[in-house]
Amino acid sequence: MIRIEQDAWRKMVAHAQVTYPNECCGAMLGTIDGDAKTVKVSIELDNAFEGVQQERYELRPRDLMNADRAARQQGMDLIGIFHSHPDCDAYFSATDLKNSFPWYSFVVISVKNGKFDHANSFLPNAEQTTANEEEMEHPAVSPAA
Ligand SMILES: [Zn+2]
Repeated sequence: MIRIEQDAWRKMVAHAQVTYPNECCGAMLGTIDGDAKTVKVSIELDNAFEGVQQERYELRPRDLMNADRAARQQGMDLIGIFHSHPDCDAYFSATDLKNSFPWYSFVVISVKNGKFDHANSFLPNAEQTTANEEEMEHPAVSPAA
């Protein structure tokens, strides 16, 4: 179960919409209490993929390390990664699975015609052969956002 707080969520959705029609990506910082994760801060990261960014994203390891450090400095953990699917549903693709890490939550944000549509969170397994959907709670997105 992952719960995303208002400020973090607003920034994630804004980043996904501004980056449209390309894929955006970023880090989610927060706390873990048993099975309950709370995202308190989100950080926009560069999509470092050098091809067509409408279909792919790539994170720089250095950016992830910096996000991890930023989390620790604020007494939190890097608990997940988010990215967007422009004009596509929020599913976990074969590429997403291949580039995943089993210890993070992966939130996929579907943006259609430049506006937030829906989002899902996934938990990849250690073998990177499958990802289960994770229960997610996020604030409502106002149509004007
Ligand atoms: Zn994807």
